[in-house]
Amino acid sequence: MRLDLDEGDGRASASRLRERLVEDVRETVAQTPTRTIFQSMAPWEVGLFYVLSFVSTAIFVWGCFRLVQRYRLQRLGLRSGSLHIGRAVRVIVTHSWIRRQSGVVGFAHAAVFYGFLVLFAGTTILAIDDHIAKPLGWDFWRGGFYEGYSLFLDVFGAAMLVGLVLLGIRRARGGLRLDYARIDGRPVSPKRSRYQLDDWVFLWALLYLGATGFLLESFRIAIDRPAFEVWSPVGYVTGSALRAIGIQGAAANELRHMTWWFHSLVALAFVAAIPFTKAMHMLTSPTAVAARDQTVSRKLPDEPATGYSTLADFEPTHRLDLDACTKCGRCHEVCPARASHMPLSPRDLILDLREAQSAGFTGNLLPTVLAPETLWSCMQCNACVDVCPVGIEHVPVINLLRRGLVEAGAIDGQLQAVFETVYSSGNSFGEHKRKRTRWVKELETELPDARKTPVDVLWYLGDYASLEPRNQRNSQALAQLLQRAGVDVGCIYDGERTAGNDIRRAGEEGLFRNLAADNIETLSGCDFERILTSDPHTYNTLRNEYPRLGAPWQPNQVVHHTVFLLELLRTGKLTINRPLGRRGTYHDPCTLGRLNGTFEEPRELIRRCGIDLVEMPRNMSNSFCCGAGGGRIWMKETAEPGNRRPSEQRIDEARSLGDLDYFIVACPKDVVMYEDAIKTSGHADHIELKEVSQLLLEATSG
Ligand code: SF4
Ligand code: SF4
Repeated sequence: MRLDLDEGDGRASASRLRERLVEDVRETVAQTPTRTIFQSMAPWEVGLFYVLSFVSTAIFVWGCFRLVQRYRLQRLGLRSGSLHIGRAVRVIVTHSWIRRQSGVVGFAHAAVFYGFLVLFAGTTILAIDDHIAKPLGWDFWRGGFYEGYSLFLDVFGAAMLVGLVLLGIRRARGGLRLDYARIDGRPVSPKRSRYQLDDWVFLWALLYLGATGFLLESFRIAIDRPAFEVWSPVGYVTGSALRAIGIQGAAANELRHMTWWFHSLVALAFVAAIPFTKAMHMLTSPTAVAARDQTVSRKLPDEPATGYSTLADFEPTHRLDLDACTKCGRCHEVCPARASHMPLSPRDLILDLREAQSAGFTGNLLPTVLAPETLWSCMQCNACVDVCPVGIEHVPVINLLRRGLVEAGAIDGQLQAVFETVYSSGNSFGEHKRKRTRWVKELETELPDARKTPVDVLWYLGDYASLEPRNQRNSQALAQLLQRAGVDVGCIYDGERTAGNDIRRAGEEGLFRNLAADNIETLSGCDFERILTSDPHTYNTLRNEYPRLGAPWQPNQVVHHTVFLLELLRTGKLTINRPLGRRGTYHDPCTLGRLNGTFEEPRELIRRCGIDLVEMPRNMSNSFCCGAGGGRIWMKETAEPGNRRPSEQRIDEARSLGDLDYFIVACPKDVVMYEDAIKTSGHADHIELKEVSQLLLEATSG
């Protein structure tokens, strides 16, 4: 700027100079990338906004306090174990549990999650600048920072809108997961339609906030379109479009002012509503993910031994779980009980309990809130726990409720008879204890008695592998393989009692503890390096539950026969002499696969036998239960007649793969379930059941 003052008109020139200086400063300020908050708002409006913000925050805090009281978190601690904060952060950041079942939903939820987070962080940064930094003389919300901030918020805001639209389309299409129809024949409570309303209001509220946020930005930019606002690309384009149709200057400012209030009022209402609506899952779900005990289904809780009868019995984590459910319906979709039209849906069970909790229900949950048949229908297969994106523990909850039923004597009749049989004979078949190893006499070489002789490997037979006639053939095959490989193996003959895995899962905690104590005492008197079993249920309880009850061995000393036989092949103690050249599919037993992570070893074993292994659509951790678990094998049918049982559905699934020679299993209960299902499903002429020991015996013979 050139200063040109003529003599004689000094006063006029000084005044012109002052005006030009002010104009220059105005221009510079107008071009500095930043903006004024509460632009063109009267002081009373600013005051009102702060009052409403205070009210909204107070309601939010009060709601959170009520939740903490509801779960009794402050009194008992979240869980006797620890919170897995690191894992929760990893799961939330990567969205791994949400992506597991559906990539599109995972992507859409991540877009909404990160969009919301960035917009929330943007508002917080603005508040810090205005209320803390500026009074201290440091206004950082300008220049390059402002431009980067604007770009970041625009991109994430747009991603949030895209995610919300995708989730809206998903929800509008409905389907099994999002259909609140009940499977158990109970009337659909009016709360279920309120859930649907809640889901939609939540989605629309976020859409509204995202859309009005962009509209606000567009009107602001349309007022005078400063060049630096190009860093808000969405707003710049829409603001320019508004100017093109004549909305600019004072008119745009008027509309901006109005939109600001529409946006702010809904935003404040949204914050206040978080602890009372579906938005609650923003608080409860991450906490449930952190509290989830990954081992809880393979090691059922030791306490309370008498189980749950009322909500007051629930441990805080399980009370929190009820509100953490997002009603995504994944557990409902995968549950084999639901798929077989039995009166159980894990989603409905959680929602029934949630409704009782929010209504302050204090009485006995059974049968008012839950029907006993609902609890008895569960196979404890863990599919629901495995797919739940927010870490809800359905299996221990159902198990503890079953304990409550057993404690009250409200037991399924057939199951009660099995409990009595096990109590009196030590096995679920009611056979004399000496009969357990009668088939051993048919072997060429006798198995040593591990109670009398030290052995490398103690073979814990299990009821089904030793007392059920079809399985005895497979146990003989396994014995031949072990002897062929020169394994120093023995068993405890009539000293063995049912390990009790399914007695526990059926809810008879007292009987399970007795069985465990007896078995631990017997095994403690034996000298062995490892415990071998072909029964995944026995494997699970010996490996994961007995050590907690005083067993003097480490979990990794217990081995399933699929893993052990593969070891024998890998070390050359067994060799394949006659590859079978057949085509087959393998069924992952829930307890071996989903619960204990043994997926690859059985597959490698089968392939080494010369089998062309074809996978069923549901495989590995997504396997489908045979229907025997959790004591279901002993109970009466709870499905309406005419429905296809889980084992029959599984054989149908195998047959959908085309021509197959073998349906291959690695669990004695699967042998029983699937031999029957192959016949009853009408596929007896098309597929043959094979247990892995039989396959390997054939492949290593000759
Ligand atoms: S454990 Fe299996 S049967 Fe039981 S509720 Fe879960 S998915 Fe259904
Ligand atoms: S319990 Fe888990 S999987 Fe089931 S509906 Fe709720 S959030 Fe979804």
